[in-house]
Amino acid sequence: MIVRTRVAPSPTGDPHVGTAYIALFNLCFARQHDGCFVLRIEDTDQQRSNKQSEQTIFDSLRWLGLEWDEGPDVGGEFGPYRQSERTSIYKKYADQLVEAGHAFYCFATTEELDDMRREQMTHGETPKYDGRGLSLSSTEIADRRAAGTPYVIRMKIPEQGVCRFDDMLRGPIEIPWSQVDMQVLMKADGMPTYHLANVVDDHLMEISHVIRGEEWINSAPKHQLLYEYFGWDMPVLCHMPLLRNPDKSKLSKRKNPTGINFYRAMGYLPEALINYLGRMGWSMPDEEEKFSLPEMVANFNIEDVHLGGPVFDTEKLDWLNGRWIREDLDEGAFRERLIEWALNGDKLGEIIPLVQGRVEKFSDLAPMVTYLLAGIPDIDAASFDQTKVDTQLTQKILQYAVWSLDGVSEWHRDKLYQCLNELARAMDIKLKDFMEPLFIALAGKSAALPLFDSMIILGPDLVRARIRHGLETLGLPSKKQLKKLDKEYQQLAVS
Ligand code: GLU
Repeated sequence: MIVRTRVAPSPTGDPHVGTAYIALFNLCFARQHDGCFVLRIEDTDQQRSNKQSEQTIFDSLRWLGLEWDEGPDVGGEFGPYRQSERTSIYKKYADQLVEAGHAFYCFATTEELDDMRREQMTHGETPKYDGRGLSLSSTEIADRRAAGTPYVIRMKIPEQGVCRFDDMLRGPIEIPWSQVDMQVLMKADGMPTYHLANVVDDHLMEISHVIRGEEWINSAPKHQLLYEYFGWDMPVLCHMPLLRNPDKSKLSKRKNPTGINFYRAMGYLPEALINYLGRMGWSMPDEEEKFSLPEMVANFNIEDVHLGGPVFDTEKLDWLNGRWIREDLDEGAFRERLIEWALNGDKLGEIIPLVQGRVEKFSDLAPMVTYLLAGIPDIDAASFDQTKVDTQLTQKILQYAVWSLDGVSEWHRDKLYQCLNELARAMDIKLKDFMEPLFIALAGKSAALPLFDSMIILGPDLVRARIRHGLETLGLPSKKQLKKLDKEYQQLAVS
């Protein structure tokens, strides 16, 4: 068998270290078997997908040294590798399932389905699609379609019994069909859902092994059933353990920086980050902690992956990165890496327009721009004393800013301005007073170069990490406070 693996990120936001981790293990598995490693862009969510994010996925995975053999930007014989360019394929297969009686039209409106779920919950049941579309006659269906009533296509699920499938690392897994929903396969906008597109593409792209995060285990019954409906062989499944925060919760950007670009902006070496990710659930046969990607490929055996949730701990990463810097870079390489990191023309090109009008001599420059080239500013609660707003409001501003910025899909200056300006207005605070705590969290001081430009230079991950650090110095809100804040924030109804 020819081994073909893939990583299939969705271009929504900044690429996550989890994507790099899954890509790394897929790449190692493929290389070890002289196989092929594919990058597929799963961009069927039209609302959330964007080109900037796609480009950042390419750049950040390449920065890490993870090269794919086939993908949207390098081509290959199984393309296109971007799902938005394959919609007619999915439509064909969805229609085929309907014709064969494995899938059906559902015309239920969102309100109707919300009512259905509410009703189920009042009876103490787990909300689930109740199969209402199944009872429609073919004439009813034809009439509604002719009238242009929006519809989705859902897959049929056995009413009883248990779904059994094998996982390379976990052995046999059983999930009762009663826990599986009649999944939407085609949405009302004519786009497929992840489940349909993923199965169709894995089959057509001849993927032999699906190595992905453990959060997809519950989707495997639907996938297995789709393979069965189509009469196709299912690839071997392998669900990798999830990366965790030191408190063992799922690694999330609410608690830790998770973007690959955060680590890049902080000045970690790609070799060190890859080395660290390689140690998430796997170790070298001789337990050596420091190893390169080629060394990992040469020694890799997927069966050695252990399932205990690997902890992504930045202190350990710092230690490893320090070793790479000290042991593997001679002076020339160190210099080159520094230039490549941030002391380069492109970076200066972003900074110069902000500073030129503000300096009298070059030596004025360094103190002005230090925060643009640094990690997390050295601030404490007292740093916020100089602001016009009190501590409680400062906490609110910082917390709401994090939430609002999370919703900014494209990191452009005017988008950031629009987002924060809208928030300040909704909170009824003058923009200038609103920005002060943000200046302190982001730059360590209440006056700095223009904030929105600085945010562009720092990038979303570093911005989020700094605001979060600001919040930490003031004391993170308790769970209860957070709930209250969240409620108040929702009421502001900012986009
Ligand atoms: N698009 C999915 C993701 O974002 C892919 C999951 C899979 O590998 O099947 O992770």
